[in-house]
Amino acid sequence: MIFHVLTIFPDFFRGPLDYGIVARARKSGLFEVRIHNLRDYAHDRHRTVDDRPFGGGEGMVLKPEPIFEAVETIWPERTPGRRVILLSAQGRLFNQKMARELARYEELLLICGRYEGVDERVALYLADDEISIGDYVLSGGELAAAVIIDVVARLLPGVVGNEASIRSESFSAEGDEPAILDYPQYTRPAEFRGWRVPEVLLSGHHAEIRRWRRQAALEKTLRLRPDLLRRGEAKPPAPGSAAAEAVPTGADSAKLEGKL
Ligand code: SAM
Repeated sequence: MIFHVLTIFPDFFRGPLDYGIVARARKSGLFEVRIHNLRDYAHDRHRTVDDRPFGGGEGMVLKPEPIFEAVETIWPERTPGRRVILLSAQGRLFNQKMARELARYEELLLICGRYEGVDERVALYLADDEISIGDYVLSGGELAAAVIIDVVARLLPGVVGNEASIRSESFSAEGDEPAILDYPQYTRPAEFRGWRVPEVLLSGHHAEIRRWRRQAALEKTLRLRPDLLRRGEAKPPAPGSAAAEAVPTGADSAKLEGKL
């Protein structure tokens, strides 16, 4: 996959994508990141990319012309495998499910806003999608673009060595499985400052460990993210599925809720 990023701060991306598995995967050619400087598409002496908002108000707004020209130069043709995304606090909320959908494209082009935002004609007539990474306001779209690249890249084949680990992560269950949080992890030492690791994890009893992890994941989800269990996407598992044995029924949930 190729990620294109359109930004007025091209150097921003030197850091976030240069560490760990994402950096390794980039180096080995599993995906590519191409950074485009928006100012290269502004033609006046000062390479101006922003202007005052019509109707008055605070701050500056990114102009449409350089953004349209940039996208149309990077992609003279818009094929179904290409998707233009405008990063925006007003966009659809990004999540793991959306990341899985984006991972199917051949190329993504992420437009980073700045100042008071981007001329609305970019959202209306150029971008295929407007995406927010959370209900808060960043000072620019660059951090959001880096987040989306990181999340989508680790879903690409070969990027994370052990693909089974991706399937069992937080928010990652698909189909009938509820998309809950991951189970708590422990490592050596077995006792630290008097706090012992749950005995079952030291038992070597795989079925028991699986059951404990499932239960612990559900308890943590109920405690920290009960919305995931209530949401439509976190449907109870189909009867007889692997998840069914450990998912609490309504009564079990109530018991769990009482306990926590
Ligand atoms: N006036 C805008 C508003 O209230 O919605 C905020 C503009 S923000 C200061 C500047 C840029 O940061 C936006 O154009 C967008 O590209 C990016 N941005 C801010 N918050 C974001 C978020 N939650 N998700 C994605 N991008 C965001």
